[in-house]
Amino acid sequence: MTRALLLLSLCFLMFTSHSTAQTYNPFYGDIVNTVSASNIVADLTTFESFGVKTNGSSALSNTQNWIVSRYQSLGYTTIEEQAFSFSGNTSHNIIITKTGSVYPNTFIVIDAHYDTINGPGTNDNGSGTVLLLEMARLLKNVDTEYSIKFIHFSGEEAGLIGSNYYVNTTVIPQNMDIALVFNIDQVGGVSGTINDTIICEYDTTAPIENNAESLAATNTLATCIGLYSNLGTELSNAYGSDYVPFENAGKVITGLYEKNETPHSHSPTDVLANMDPNYLYEVTKGSVGAALEFAIGISTLSAPETVPTEKKTLNSTPILQMD
Ligand SMILES: [Zn+2]
Repeated sequence: MTRALLLLSLCFLMFTSHSTAQTYNPFYGDIVNTVSASNIVADLTTFESFGVKTNGSSALSNTQNWIVSRYQSLGYTTIEEQAFSFSGNTSHNIIITKTGSVYPNTFIVIDAHYDTINGPGTNDNGSGTVLLLEMARLLKNVDTEYSIKFIHFSGEEAGLIGSNYYVNTTVIPQNMDIALVFNIDQVGGVSGTINDTIICEYDTTAPIENNAESLAATNTLATCIGLYSNLGTELSNAYGSDYVPFENAGKVITGLYEKNETPHSHSPTDVLANMDPNYLYEVTKGSVGAALEFAIGISTLSAPETVPTEKKTLNSTPILQMD
């Protein structure tokens, strides 16, 4: 494809995706309005208290056990702790499945890593970790058309080890039907600054066959952030987080990353005091709205749903590269 044609295609795609933009769904809005700022701060405080969550550390296994117990207390029963080994230690991905009522075998993967490096990682990536916990609390009793997998990856800081393991041992061998991967990494903001914008990330790398769908999903994500939070959005390319193994396997991805990038990541000062918890509260609201849009939350009170969008079939192109 020539550069001009590519640009033309991108313009067409952006135009068409805007022309089918989502509108505010009051059922989703009611759920979003129950996001709890105090839950978020309490969970960040607990996450921070475990310390530096490096591979093989007791802090990492204590955090793992805490995440599992939080899902159990929310009433989730399908919780897998997927063990994998690297650098002489065993680490675990935590995979929670919520089954959809119309497409039980098609998944929206919503993920965040919980391992950290050099510090407690309260922003990177305690922020994504507690966002998923709060989202899972609010979606627990919501019927969705698609199944959801909440996945807390480990080994991200060591080079996307856990997400590569999951894609190589589960997604590709099972030919898992994944409609979208929604990755959340470092969305805690910076204390003392105005944090009013979130970066929505889309796939720009090979294989390119899934890139148009990634951009469309990312436009939907940005629209939902606008509808269900007070944040502005910017689009940028996805890189360096757990969506990469899925991208390489031909899956459609999107992601969130803070616009004001903290200077504290990967250091002992990545702590709650250096974050903006109200920003994370707004990111959570927008993310819950987007998750309901992606998984198609079904209101028991509203009129019957319109015909679901045609189920996507994606080609798996296993071109995995370890970092
Ligand atoms: Zn991270």
